[in-house]
Formats: sequence, structure tokens, C-alpha cells
Amino acid sequence: MLDDTPKPLVRVRDLKMHFPIHAGLLRRRVGEVKAVDGVSFDVMEGETLGLVGESGCGKSTCGRAVLRLYDITAGEISIDGREIGTMSQTKLRPIRPTMQMVFQDPQASLNPRMTVEAIIREPLDEHTSLSMAEKTAKVAELMDAVGLNRKFAKRYPHAFSGGQRQRIGIARALALNPKFIVCDEPIAALDVSIQAQVVNLLEDLQEQFGLTYLFISHDLSMVRHIATRVAVMYLGKIVELAPREALYRDPLHPYTKALLSAVPEPDPALARTSGRIILQGDVPSPSNPPKGCNFCTRCPAVMDLCKEIEPDYRQVQPGRFVACHLYNETTTTADQTAGTGA
Ligand code: SF4
Repeated sequence: MLDDTPKPLVRVRDLKMHFPIHAGLLRRRVGEVKAVDGVSFDVMEGETLGLVGESGCGKSTCGRAVLRLYDITAGEISIDGREIGTMSQTKLRPIRPTMQMVFQDPQASLNPRMTVEAIIREPLDEHTSLSMAEKTAKVAELMDAVGLNRKFAKRYPHAFSGGQRQRIGIARALALNPKFIVCDEPIAALDVSIQAQVVNLLEDLQEQFGLTYLFISHDLSMVRHIATRVAVMYLGKIVELAPREALYRDPLHPYTKALLSAVPEPDPALARTSGRIILQGDVPSPSNPPKGCNFCTRCPAVMDLCKEIEPDYRQVQPGRFVACHLYNETTTTADQTAGTGA
């Protein structure tokens, strides 16, 4: 019998990405920005894991760290069974084709002095020994796949609209047949009318090429549309991870409840019963997070315990993970800390 249980393609454990702060004439190290501070999750083969949170919560840094665009501070990252967390950039090079990124701002991520053909071909030049004719044919195939007219291959990025430029970025990301793509706010810089087209394209490509996505966004409505499961970040940590429907229907963490209360509810019956939760105060600085729970300075349900002890991130229902003292009583095994499949 075939085993169709989803398997993790990407496995992240206790990932930390801290950036040093230097000050004074001697540029002494006076502290650090804990942009990502102990994050654990799995991304299952073929799924889209949504990673949401306000600006500055560390979600983009997390995506880049998972792809090892940074040398990480601590933690483990494995992709397709290979541990890459501490691998040197030289050893990473042959693995790079497996994992790619689609960036937020297609304008900034495409070289304005290169033709579309050269931009999409660049990864093939770097990582393959294909002949020029083979590369040209592959570029044309990729342009077809993302809905760009191959007759425009010799044009420069400025000749395209924002949505078309994002399609160029996606074609480039697909050039080396990746398995895993981090989509970092891929629609945030696009007109609303174009956003759905790009998201639909990403969904079609996922099906066609069997892709696995980490979809980073602050747009909870769009994540609801595209994600299989959703992880919510606050101040460098994942505070909740759950299957999409469960998270949107019944959020557990007080921060998730507040975030979702601001999302328009399509069902009028539910919309009438849900009230908006307005959080007081600002997000603390990641260079000086509060003692105890990171959310304790703004949480409507804060208890004395929260200001002293950091809550564990653990499984509280099958497939549902949360870091909050409110759920201490219902916890299951303490070592289930990874946010694996539902
Ligand atoms: Fe709120 Fe306490 Fe839960 Fe943190 S641990 S989210 S402060 S109730």
C-alpha cells in the first residue's frame, strides 16, 4: 500500500538569527537584534505554509535564514533530508538549485541592464552546463509557464508592468527546477487588481511542478486563500501554528485573535458576532524584548506568570501548536515542538 502521509521537505529547529548592534568610536558590540529567536516548524512536501505577522516581526528574516542567505546564529535547517544550517556557502552551492526565492519588489530584484532572457538564463549559466541553444529553449519554456510572451525575451524589465516583472522573477526562480520556494511578500508591491493573478499563477505552478512554498505575507486574507497551514510570528517567535481552517475559525493565541479580528469576515453571520480587538501599545524592540512572554506588554489576557516565565511552544491539539500559558493545562507531550503536519 502506498504511504501518502505528508513528509516534511523542510525541517527547522530552534532557528535563531541575531544581528549585532555596534556603537561608539571602537564600534564595540553593545547588544543584538533578535530578529528570529528560536523558531521551529516543518514544511510538508507539496504544501504552502503561510508565515504571517506585522512588519518587523522577523518573518522575512526567517525566510532568508531558512534559505541560508545569512549565516545563522543557531539552530538546525534541513531541506530534503540534508542539514544545511551550518554548511559553508561553498558546500551549499550544489544544493542551491533545490531552494529558491521570489522577492517582494520585482522592480528592485531584477537587473535593469539585463534583458528578460538574460535574467531568466542567469541561474542556468551559473549552475548548469547546457548549451546556449538549450538554455534559450528553456527560457522560452519558462516564459510560457509563467504566462509571458516569449517574443518579449529581448526586452528590458522597465518595458513590463509590475505584475509582469513579478512573473519574470518567478520564471527565474523556476529555472533550476527547485522543490522549495520562499515567496517573500510576492504580491505586496503589486496593484490589488494584479495580486490575485500572481497568486493564482503560484498555485498553478505548484500543482504543475509539485512545488512546496513558504508564503510570507502580512495579508491574512491572501494567506487564507493560498496556505495549507499558517504560522503566526510575533517579535521573532512563532506564537501559533495550525491548519488554515482551524486557525481562521478558532484562533487560540491572543495575538492571533487580535490579528484576525482585523480581517474582514466573508460570512455575514460570523461577521456580526466577531468584534475587533484593538491592541494597546507598540511592538517592543527586538533588541530588548520583554521578560517572560514576548506578547505580555500588549496581551489583553496577561497574567502575572506571563511577565516572568516564557511560555513553551507546544502542541495543544492534534496539529495545533501555540506558545501561551493559557493552554498549559491542555498540553500533550512536551517534546512535540515542531509544528508538523495536521
Ligand atoms: Fe498573553 Fe500570557 Fe498567553 Fe503571553 S502567555 S499570550 S501574555 S496570556
